[in-house]
Amino acid sequence: MNARVVLNNGIEIPGLGLGTYKIGYSDEEVYRAIRSALDIGYRHIDTATLYRNERPVGKAIRESGIPRDEVFVTTKLWGSDVLAGNIEGAFETSLRNLGLDYLDLYLVHWPVKGRLRATWKQMESIYHSGKTRAIGLSNHHIHHMEETLREATIMPVVNQVELHPYLAQEELRDYCNRKNIAVQAWSPLGSNKIPLLNEEVLKDIGEKYGKSPAQVVLRWHLEKGVIAIPKSSHPDRQLENFQVFDFRLTEEEIYRVDALDREGRTGMHPDEIEF
Ligand code: NDP
Repeated sequence: MNARVVLNNGIEIPGLGLGTYKIGYSDEEVYRAIRSALDIGYRHIDTATLYRNERPVGKAIRESGIPRDEVFVTTKLWGSDVLAGNIEGAFETSLRNLGLDYLDLYLVHWPVKGRLRATWKQMESIYHSGKTRAIGLSNHHIHHMEETLREATIMPVVNQVELHPYLAQEELRDYCNRKNIAVQAWSPLGSNKIPLLNEEVLKDIGEKYGKSPAQVVLRWHLEKGVIAIPKSSHPDRQLENFQVFDFRLTEEEIYRVDALDREGRTGMHPDEIEF
């Protein structure tokens, strides 16, 4: 059911995590949203320096009473720190803000043009320090990955990219599969910018299983071996998004969801981002 995925360095990651971008306006709201997700059973939390919520995210994890080694924590390196030559400093700041002794996964948030190989060298040195259990990429297209890997001695464990039925990223997924790099989907539900969850086909498939369109979409990710990190600030939707391990889609249903693909990117294009 893909409740857990084994990464290429042997460590395990829950196949479903909680996204935290804009999960709360205040630290208190962020804290409450993370605590409720952990109470529901989420054991994988995705944050980033950019989200400015590492402090309440870390506090919620620490105060949950759940052993540290049972929660998979990801944060990300922002491009301005790459440009400022502050990669190790940014990592240490994130760790301090989270109040954790180690991270599970540290990602290069977006490719910084001209700095791909040098950035990865420093990511490798952070990995060798033992303060993160894995390192990976985010928003890297195939050409960014090829460039990054030219001098790499450690393979990225994941590439976290925008991925949902309107942007299925088949070519990138195939490439990552060949390299044994797991794919993580951001905006797995299409965020709130597109009407994906109104699609009749999702409602139709969901009716058969007593599931919502969001649950069908999350199951579609899991069937493809993609790690999904839906965000919800609300306990009821957090619970809904977590209840996707008690049904499976048939091959035909997967094809029907695949047919929604339309290059429907909602976020920045990785070649156009500026810091
Ligand atoms: P999602 O696809 O997770 O969608 C979130 C939106 O869907 C929110 O408006 C949420 O509202 C709503 N929602 C959640 N669950 C349901 C449901 N069951 N039914 C209906 N609506 C629902 O988009 P995100 O952009 O937040 O992406 C998820 C995570 O990915 C981020 O939080 C972040 O951690 C990561 N990310 C990474 C990026 C990167 O560059 N690496 C870029 C963007 C995101 P509500 O909260 O009110 O429930």
